[in-house]
Amino acid sequence: MTIINGKEVSQKLKDDIAAEVKENGYTPGLAVIIVGDDPASRVYVNNKKKACAYCGFHSEEYALAENTTQSELIALIERLNQDENIDGILCQLPLPRHIDEKAVIEAIAPAKDVDAFCEADVGKVMIGNYTFSPCTPAGVMELLKYYHIDVSGKNAVVIGRSNIVGKPMAMLLLHADATVTLCHSKTADLKDICRRADIIVSAVGRIGAVSADMVRDGAVVIDVGINRNSEGKLQGDVDYEAVKEKASYITPVPGGVGPMTIAVLMQNTLKAYKNNKKID
Ligand code: NAD
Repeated sequence: MTIINGKEVSQKLKDDIAAEVKENGYTPGLAVIIVGDDPASRVYVNNKKKACAYCGFHSEEYALAENTTQSELIALIERLNQDENIDGILCQLPLPRHIDEKAVIEAIAPAKDVDAFCEADVGKVMIGNYTFSPCTPAGVMELLKYYHIDVSGKNAVVIGRSNIVGKPMAMLLLHADATVTLCHSKTADLKDICRRADIIVSAVGRIGAVSADMVRDGAVVIDVGINRNSEGKLQGDVDYEAVKEKASYITPVPGGVGPMTIAVLMQNTLKAYKNNKKID
């Protein structure tokens, strides 16, 4: 059994980006907006800022109060849409309940939508011809590539059907020629479906969602879930200790998929910069 090291793979991606930026004197700019003081969001935003600094990007943080109105937030996005120093705009989710997330996502100019959350990007992922990669699913594909795990013709089961993880994950696996089953909270016989899987990607958000009896010997198990256990520590969806005895490859939490999401965000920001500056 091999433990997939997301820290190592993400480090390599960021090193490649930093080298390209330095060599060419590029100045990609990412604006990160956070509304309110959700502690998990704060951690994610800090990690994104750190990654920007590491890659040699210019980054700007906009920390807005919880009671910021939707029109104030959209006005900021519209200003950043016009700002030539900013190539990517990211609005950390979730937003406070009085703000319509969809309206905010759609306000970001498509050329700067480095999270690839807007409807046009999501549609392009389905077709398989997209500018910006959906960060978390693309991070999973990078991990599979790095470890030479061939998905072509394999049975891949994705658990979770959110627009930002489950659905695009299923599409990327499909584009890589896997036979994909997309499961969710209403799926009957989840255990039986998983037991036939060569590759399981869990994006549920519940500790214990994937137990050892759901995994066949030799399966590849990718855990996207980020949960807090009763001791306040980060834990994935997968019953890691038991499942690692059966899996051929497994991602830990933390240190698996999480760092990859940020590395792909950096790739997308560099891509946005090159597109905006018309660099090949
Ligand atoms: P979500 O709540 O939008 O979606 C969860 C999905 O799980 C739903 O589609 C639901 O149908 C499915 N589900 C719920 N209970 C189930 C059950 N009992 N059996 C089968 N399916 C079930 O969440 P999301 O935004 O897709 O995130 C999923 C998890 O991934 C969360 O823990 C989140 O924190 C984590 N996440 C991690 C990263 C990362 O970078 N590693 C990025 C995004 C999300």
